[in-house]
Amino acid sequence: MKITSLFENKQKTVFSFEVFPPKKTSPIESVYGKLEEICMLRPDFVSVTYGAGGSGGHSRTCEIASKIKNDLGVESVAHLTCVNSTRTDIDATLADFRAHHIENILALRGDYTKGVRPQCDFRYASELCAYITRQGGFDIAGACYPEGHLEAKDAVEDILNLKKKVDAGATHLISQLFFDNSLFYRFLEHTRIAGVNVPIEAGIMPVTNRAQIERMVSLCGASLPAKFSKVMQRYESRPEALRDAGIAYAVEQIVDLIANGVDGIHLYTMNNPYVARRITEAVSSLL
Ligand code: FAD
Repeated sequence: MKITSLFENKQKTVFSFEVFPPKKTSPIESVYGKLEEICMLRPDFVSVTYGAGGSGGHSRTCEIASKIKNDLGVESVAHLTCVNSTRTDIDATLADFRAHHIENILALRGDYTKGVRPQCDFRYASELCAYITRQGGFDIAGACYPEGHLEAKDAVEDILNLKKKVDAGATHLISQLFFDNSLFYRFLEHTRIAGVNVPIEAGIMPVTNRAQIERMVSLCGASLPAKFSKVMQRYESRPEALRDAGIAYAVEQIVDLIANGVDGIHLYTMNNPYVARRITEAVSSLL
């Protein structure tokens, strides 16, 4: 199933998850139990990251996306980055995706790796989108950044670049995580003014431990509203309370987003079935 068709039903908010493959040093089967639990929650689709956090190349992404779709019966989206790939590498990955009946790709540039010279066949995600569009057969999603991408000169430039990605074939966008819904609403307004008219899912990260906050903020630059920081500070030395507070914060964000008519919620599950279940149970009747 092509993911974009999910957004045609305007009566329902799309609800999707993100998972990641295990690190190269762990057997792939080590995540199967968690994936089964996560898929039992019946999200509209599950996306699988590519090469992020030391999880290796495309084969693990392909294998996990295939497992989710073909064994666990939930539609999957395979992430695909291009910054370190040649056209031949991308062709091989697309062939692998096709062989596993994967129909949906989140086309990304990826981050530069220290000490690794980037390849030059694809400089931006929009070039990868255009290439996959020309090949045909895949539904393409792209990433977007409510607070602007870290490398962008300003928000205007970033949104104009986002428009290039959509013009190149991305038919749905998934946002970077954020903790302040008002920033997402402002971003939506700006994208619509710029003529970006595809569905945009809001990326929600339930923060459940202190290390996660620091890592996320340093990686993606999401700003922390005072309300969020106060909650996290109050419970930082009580892991269970911090986890519950993180879940409650994410649920509150989601309720507000749904009430404001968001196209979809994309939950960064961090491969944590417990957290995914708590949030799903809290919001499923609202979608
Ligand atoms: P692009 O859209 O290419 O944008 C990158 C920068 O280039 C931006 O500053 C943009 O404004 C600028 N730009 C774009 N087009 C042009 C142009 N034509 N001319 C000049 N400047 C331009 N990383 C992984 O490694 N694996 C993953 O699985 C993964 N999944 C992600 C999922 C989501 C939902 C998100 C939001 C991010 C994900 N990332 C992942 C991180 C992502 O790879 C990084 O944020 C990366 O730095 C940018 O990727 P992009 O596809 O957004 O790049």
